Amino acid sequence: MSAVAVVGAGWAGATAARLIHDAGYPVHLFDRDFSVGGHSKSGTINGVMFEPHGPHVFHTSDVTVMNFVRRFGIAHDYAHHGLTEIFLDDADEKPRLLSWPPQVGELKDLPLWPAIEKELAGLPEVPSTKNLRDYCVGLMGETLFRLFIEGYTIKQWGRDPAEMSSTFAPSRLDLRADGNRRMFKDSWELFPLPSAQAVIEEMVRPIPATFGQELGAGDLPELERSYRAIVITAPLDDFLGLPGELEWRGIRSVSTYIPLEDPAGTVTAGYIVNQPSLRRPYTRTVETKHASGQSIRGTVVTEEYPGAPEKHYPVPTPDRRYERANERLQDEIRQVTSLRVFFCGRLANYVYINQDVAIGQGMACARQVLEFLGTFPGTPEH
Ligand SMILES: Cc1cc2nc3c(=O)[nH]c(=O)nc-3n(C[C@H](O)[C@H](O)[C@H](O)COP(=O)(O)OP(=O)(O)OC[C@H]3O[C@@H](n4cnc5c(N)ncnc54)[C@H](O)[C@@H]3O)c2cc1C
Repeated sequence: MSAVAVVGAGWAGATAARLIHDAGYPVHLFDRDFSVGGHSKSGTINGVMFEPHGPHVFHTSDVTVMNFVRRFGIAHDYAHHGLTEIFLDDADEKPRLLSWPPQVGELKDLPLWPAIEKELAGLPEVPSTKNLRDYCVGLMGETLFRLFIEGYTIKQWGRDPAEMSSTFAPSRLDLRADGNRRMFKDSWELFPLPSAQAVIEEMVRPIPATFGQELGAGDLPELERSYRAIVITAPLDDFLGLPGELEWRGIRSVSTYIPLEDPAGTVTAGYIVNQPSLRRPYTRTVETKHASGQSIRGTVVTEEYPGAPEKHYPVPTPDRRYERANERLQDEIRQVTSLRVFFCGRLANYVYINQDVAIGQGMACARQVLEFLGTFPGTPEH
């Protein structure tokens, strides 16, 4: 009998599988896709690297996570500078390129600065967490909220910011006066080359895997014959065949290849340029060549259009209704199988997490699995 089936070969599942394998227990990896990497996977068009599932900078302050991924070849230091294109009002014809998060030093050059300055002087000590709108206005004032956040949020989530929870805001929104244009403040920041999936491939190299197979609750009786435990990193509404139980927000990426004479050439201002204006139907442009540093006569620019039926972002409502629904789905799965079930990763936990946190969840999950397997007699073997 194999010890553990791991469903999903993104960062979370791959990490859990590798650590269980390293401890000497047989583990088998399944993925519905035909390769590893999950949501962090990149692709190429005419040889140019691009990111069909959104831009992915690897950043962490977790030394355990960093040491773990280094084993599998993650490299290429990178410093990400966020950018935003702003239209000041409806009459403004030419957008201005500003830093994201906004920098007070740059804002002083705007004709709107007197109003912004007045609002900043009247900010509360701690922003209200009642909803996303109140949090943002309390953090940066009404004008900056309107310029940088409001339109982006309406496009991204299809909701008014006043109807949204502020839970994710403190870790993602900021107003800076320090001149530090690096978006992330973590100890390590990298752009995985040649790709995140190459690092994950190396991680799972010794582990037997089945690709192109989507597992669901209907497969559990069969799995019970071969495994003692299952690690699920799949979305639980799909796993249980209950579409619509959880709400997700997805983006449609439209990627365009542009031939260039200069191998170092790019066409946009930066790797990621936010587009908060409602004049533009997309939320941002992504030109991965800025981060990859590829030397090639061409580039790919991706526009991100929100509202696609993909499971990219969980929807944060003030009453946490979908997080609670996901907990019920976890209980339901535990009840329908004799396998010991463990959940980790962004999908099975219905949570937006960065890659380092997904790896951390994979590590924590592996510890729980090993504790469980340690209760069985016999020596672990490959
Ligand atoms: C637009 C966007 C941009 C992002 N940018 C960043 C960034 O810059 N930096 C950062 O650190 N993080 C970023 N993230 C987060 C990052 O994508 C996640 O942290 C990471 O993908 C989580 O890995 P995971 O293993 O939990 O999930 P996934 O990568 O989604 O892996 C899940 C795997 O399970 C497989 N699977 C699903 N269901 C089944 C099933 N039923 N049977 C078999 N296999 C199944 C899938 O094919 C997939 O391979 C971003 C996320 C989004 C949405």
